[in-house]
Amino acid sequence: MQFRLAPFAALESSSRGRSFTESGPGHRSEYQRDRDRIIHSSAFRRLEYKTQVFVNHEGDLFRTRLTHSLEVAQIARTIARTLGLHEDLTEAISLAHDLGHTPFGHAGQDALNACMQDFGGFEHNLQSLRVVDKLEDKYAEFAGLNLCFETREGILKHCTRKRARKLGELGQRFLDKTQPSLEAQLANLADEIAYNNHDVDDGLRAGLLSNELMCEAELFRRHYEAVMAKYPKLPENRVRHEVIRRMINELVNDLITFSQAQLESAAPESIDAVRQLSKPLISFSPDMRRDNTQLKRLLHKHLYDHPRVYRMTSKARRVIKELFDALHADPKLLPPDFHLNFQTASERKAEKGGARVVADYIAGMTDRYALHEYERLFNPRRTD
Ligand code: MG
Repeated sequence: MQFRLAPFAALESSSRGRSFTESGPGHRSEYQRDRDRIIHSSAFRRLEYKTQVFVNHEGDLFRTRLTHSLEVAQIARTIARTLGLHEDLTEAISLAHDLGHTPFGHAGQDALNACMQDFGGFEHNLQSLRVVDKLEDKYAEFAGLNLCFETREGILKHCTRKRARKLGELGQRFLDKTQPSLEAQLANLADEIAYNNHDVDDGLRAGLLSNELMCEAELFRRHYEAVMAKYPKLPENRVRHEVIRRMINELVNDLITFSQAQLESAAPESIDAVRQLSKPLISFSPDMRRDNTQLKRLLHKHLYDHPRVYRMTSKARRVIKELFDALHADPKLLPPDFHLNFQTASERKAEKGGARVVADYIAGMTDRYALHEYERLFNPRRTD
């Protein structure tokens, strides 16, 4: 087992640094310091009460965005260490990648984006960057968390060309169609491994999916059959866990082996050589990509579009829209600090007036806070 950094890793000596120059991080690496700032942010703590598929109050066993982010970091770190990439940077990106998510998962994001159509739109990925760059505003000497370029580069997974033009150095790769660091590429795929597998787990546990149904996906079927052949009398919860751990293991091994081969043949000499490439070097093998897509499609069809999930997401969309409309029309309903920001933004016509401030406020809400706020605003019997 090797722990040395490869030449193509994000070496601290080749970092593009922080916007605001700071003294060295002492006994930590620069990326450890980034990770620590992310963990100490309030947006990170709020991930505990935000969900992806299931709404937070549906059950305590389901993944939240916090446990999801920890699973992403855990998977990504293992792979980073094996490939000689910077484990601390990989961890920082993984823990920060979902900070900009709205309450109620993708339904919330779609609803907020629709509300913001005339005001520049809303995109959770861009919002994650906005959280670390601007909204976590509590340090004495700088705005936001003042993270390293490489961490911010990893957080910004995708971006439209229009937006990219406004982001300077950080947006350039979307205009040039080049790649981010290998650590960023890795965190992105670790995200996929984590959510596909935990959604299968949560879906089976909630009774919305079944083993029979999941066997339509090759990846699930081969591990399910192997587990049943070896342990025919195993109780259901252990079967589920055994199949999922084997799926994660196969995905991780495939990603390591295929990426290792690609790295050997491309042999990039530095992070900047990686950044000039038109294709990512961290990827699954073609066969695994096919299996992964099949699994994803199945999850879409049977879980994300399940009537029970749909009913909840439809409610969530309404909550977000009504909150936005009410707060945007009457900003005095906002908490005092947001109200002040709304007034300043409207006067300066900054970021399309106050709409962005309302979007920041709503995006920062947890599932339960959004429901609570909805009650307070629209239930006339509530006096608080
Ligand atoms: Mg994620």
